[in-house]
Amino acid sequence: MLLVHEVDVFYGDAQALDGVSLEVPDRAIVAIVGANGAGKTSLIRTIAGMLPPASGTIRFKDRDITGLPSHEVCDLGIGQVAEGRQVFPSLSVAENLAMGAMIPRAKPHRARNLDRVYALFPRLKERHGQAAGTLSGGEQQMLAIGRCLMGEPELVMFDEPSLGLAPAVVQEVLRTIRDLAAGGLTCVLVEQNVAVSLKLASRAYVLENGRVTLSGTGEELLADDGVRKAYLGL
Ligand code: ATP
Repeated sequence: MLLVHEVDVFYGDAQALDGVSLEVPDRAIVAIVGANGAGKTSLIRTIAGMLPPASGTIRFKDRDITGLPSHEVCDLGIGQVAEGRQVFPSLSVAENLAMGAMIPRAKPHRARNLDRVYALFPRLKERHGQAAGTLSGGEQQMLAIGRCLMGEPELVMFDEPSLGLAPAVVQEVLRTIRDLAAGGLTCVLVEQNVAVSLKLASRAYVLENGRVTLSGTGEELLADDGVRKAYLGL
């Protein structure tokens, strides 16, 4: 579904991604693992059209999307749930969700998608009139996911979805991602909780200093000595 081929990205003179290639098959969960500063967020932002690659190509469903602006990438069906639960704090839950349905592909299906999001997260329905900034951290993460789903994506990139959440809520968020994938959504998952993300993922890539240094099935990476030492503390 998504093919990233030898992508280089720079911030000024500093190279954030160096020849990164990866493949995300239809309906898979693909995990991206790496230390702080390895380039995970830069990779997501590049795929999303927010950072232009200096070279390399990005293809989505057999179409070259390299260099397309982010609203066009989004309208093709690539959504992202950014790190840090970027909800609009002064808008209500329902208004935040409506913002997710502003793109042309999603507008006609707004009512149906709202029903789906409320079925997935009944808590959001209960709190539809409440200002998003007054929700708990877990509820804000649900809202960020729900808003992304309102855009009717086929592929969603999750950047650290469990960051800063209580353990029980982390489980709920990860269960939601697993259920969405089981329902046919293709997922790219950047997650500090490496063991869990490798268990969920059918394929995973290790990024180090902007380069892919290892890839394989989630199980292969879980069994890899280097991964176990560097990311699992074993
Ligand atoms: P983290 O888990 O800490 O978010 P990451 O793997 O997502 O890390 P990136 O945020 O993609 O890594 O950062 C990759 C490199 O690019 C780092 O060296 C970082 O300092 C640099 N970088 C990121 N954003 C910018 C920016 N806006 N301007 C300049 N350099 C940046």
